[in-house]
Amino acid sequence: MPFSKLGLSEPITLALNELGYSAPTPIQQKAIPVALSGKNIIAAAQTGTGKTASFVLPILERFKEPRKVRGKRVKALVLAPTRELVVQVEQNIQQYSKHLTINSMVMYGGVDSKPQKQRLIEGIDILVATPGRLLDLYTQRAVHFDELEVLVLDEADRMLDMGFIEDINRIIELLPDERQNMLFSATLSNQVRALAKTAMKTPVQISV
Ligand code: AMP
Repeated sequence: MPFSKLGLSEPITLALNELGYSAPTPIQQKAIPVALSGKNIIAAAQTGTGKTASFVLPILERFKEPRKVRGKRVKALVLAPTRELVVQVEQNIQQYSKHLTINSMVMYGGVDSKPQKQRLIEGIDILVATPGRLLDLYTQRAVHFDELEVLVLDEADRMLDMGFIEDINRIIELLPDERQNMLFSATLSNQVRALAKTAMKTPVQISV
């Protein structure tokens, strides 16, 4: 099955072709059409299955028309547990959005926050962040969520293991009620399911 059959448009499928992706992986086949329809998703998927593209590609499809984002606003927020993962997700966004105009950025702790605040002023389509630094910058009024349309919780089980639950719950409370939510986790433990319940209503469950 080609990527175009999943409902992805030409600038995106072209980038995937150029990367040598010949067909969607099983998680991509199941998750992408559901995500494109705007529904909420809870997905059980390990690293290495192609889970990142499962949420990144539908977000790119949503934002494929170039538009101006208001200063300090973000349209889509991806929360991930570590700096390493945040950087990896953003690299994938860069690769897949090669033929689109998408403004994405990474945010994590342990480094000077000034350049991150500076970047936010532009307005960001996709922000990939660790929870602690994001709350820190929100408290400093460096980022606003009033135009947010999509929330992704990536590697949710690892975020819980690392003690981010309170931060994540606080962030969720700050977001507009009307939004699409996608949660990805290697395992769907009771705690992960409880988090999903806080974050979203009536998700479609996907596993591979
Ligand atoms: P992930 O599970 O998201 O960490 O992805 C694992 C690796 O598979 C990454 O290096 C991706 O670039 C690659 N990948 C994702 N989707 C595909 C695909 N449909 N075909 C080939 N490689 C892929």
